[in-house]
Amino acid sequence: MNILKTDYRSQLKKELPADRIYDQHDILTDYSDDWTEIPGHTPDVIVKVHSVEDIQTVLKIANQHKVPVVPRVANTNIGGLAIPEKGGVVLDLTEMNRILETNEEDMYAILEPGVTWGDIKTHLAENYPTLRFGYSLSPPYTSILANCLLDGLSNLSLKHGTTAHWINGFEAVLPTGEIIRTGIGAVSSNWCTKSPMPDLTGFFVNFQGTTGIVSKLSVQLWPNHPHRKRFFVLAYDTNEMYDFISLLVRAEVCDDIGGLSWPVGKMLFGDKNPLYRDPAEPEQFLYIDVSAEYEDLFEVKLAIIERLVKEQQKQGVRLESPLDVQKLVKVAPRFEKFADFPAELDFLLELGGLTWIGTFGPISGWKEGVKRGMNLMEEQGFAPIVVTRPMQGGHFGVLRFIAVFDKSDSEQVERVTELNRALSDLVIDLGFFPYKTPPWVIKRHRDKLDPNFLKMVAKVQKLLDPNGIMNPGKWSV
Ligand SMILES: Cc1cc2nc3c(=O)[nH]c(=O)nc-3n(C[C@H](O)[C@H](O)[C@H](O)COP(=O)(O)OP(=O)(O)OC[C@H]3O[C@@H](n4cnc5c(N)ncnc54)[C@H](O)[C@@H]3O)c2cc1C
Repeated sequence: MNILKTDYRSQLKKELPADRIYDQHDILTDYSDDWTEIPGHTPDVIVKVHSVEDIQTVLKIANQHKVPVVPRVANTNIGGLAIPEKGGVVLDLTEMNRILETNEEDMYAILEPGVTWGDIKTHLAENYPTLRFGYSLSPPYTSILANCLLDGLSNLSLKHGTTAHWINGFEAVLPTGEIIRTGIGAVSSNWCTKSPMPDLTGFFVNFQGTTGIVSKLSVQLWPNHPHRKRFFVLAYDTNEMYDFISLLVRAEVCDDIGGLSWPVGKMLFGDKNPLYRDPAEPEQFLYIDVSAEYEDLFEVKLAIIERLVKEQQKQGVRLESPLDVQKLVKVAPRFEKFADFPAELDFLLELGGLTWIGTFGPISGWKEGVKRGMNLMEEQGFAPIVVTRPMQGGHFGVLRFIAVFDKSDSEQVERVTELNRALSDLVIDLGFFPYKTPPWVIKRHRDKLDPNFLKMVAKVQKLLDPNGIMNPGKWSV
């Protein structure tokens, strides 16, 4: 065993209470990989921090000994981003889970890293029913702060952009143990915006924990409109559905719009890896969220959507009339998963392996991307699950190919690895780029990235983390 490693672990044990540190074999194994096909690696030690002072202690010791530190909460990023690929410390932030402040008037909350989607939903429902948060499709036990740092997407992202756009600022611990604050919180006790400060939050967003550990986040909340509805529109032709989405986006009446390809419907009915669609079945399920503060506005929004559907139907477009999800749940209870977010989409996890090429890029590239991507998935024997969502007023969109696989079957792991490579080639060709970017994507496509952009990323990392201890291997250029 490396003497330095022994040294740093005994120093950790000296400076932190014993119940924060874990190095038993079984526990280390639990922290070594995730649901994806990306190879795992065992860490040397897990530290469960309870406070910003604990984070400072760990970072100072690790920095002194030049030992890697990998921050992590629920490890559900589906990109291998919390795999400790060079060993070292996994800094488990799940127990820093306090909601430190909720400002009802200025509509923001200050959260620790371990606060989950489930926590904020319960907290607001019980204490601030006039406010809401946008909810993602990620499981309820996962971190909001990590999601915001990864430019996540939620059911308010059509209106308000990725969750990184909702950041008012944060407190971060640098590898030296120094603490900085970004946004107006650098001067004011009311942390309601990141304007008009130089935007240092950008040094942490999508850097995947390579520049420091964010220990507190101020994030925007939204009005919780009393009138809301989610419904499905079944579409029998993918291209027609995308034309319809464009109409809806420009009408500006929806909070969220999501296209789900046909295998999702079949999975909700219990098929684990659906590879066949009867030509009479819909190609896509479109879900639409609408809300309003006032009933008359709500009725107008619903009427506009109904009118657009009817006009399309008259022109021969094969769309079903909107189905209220609450009514659908009565005939098919598994649709409950889509009735309200956050949800446990456990049907995606039933085979033990889950991976995706999830991207942001131009909505104008959806039709070609979906067709070619679904073909690639079917050729490799995977159910062609595709999710598309317009973002931020339709200025860009999500294009995400999801593969479920048996992680214990090496042949499937190899096949899904090949599939993801081919999908990454396709999407980058069409002007999209994978979000929550897995390290292998950066290596494979390095030559397509602007060299000066890459240099600048490396300079920022070097500036904030001169010893290269923070989550090494991630966004590594
Ligand atoms: C079925 C399913 C559906 C999903 N749907 C969505 C979706 O609709 N939208 C979406 O955006 N995501 C989705 N996700 C992805 C993921 O669940 C979310 O992004 C989630 O919020 C991430 O939280 P986590 O606790 O798992 O983060 P982790 O995986 O633990 O961490 C993510 C990254 O952030 C870094 N990190 C963690 N904490 C800190 C910190 N304090 N400071 C600096 N870096 C840090 C980690 O090192 C890692 O690089 C889905 C996942 C699953 C399994």
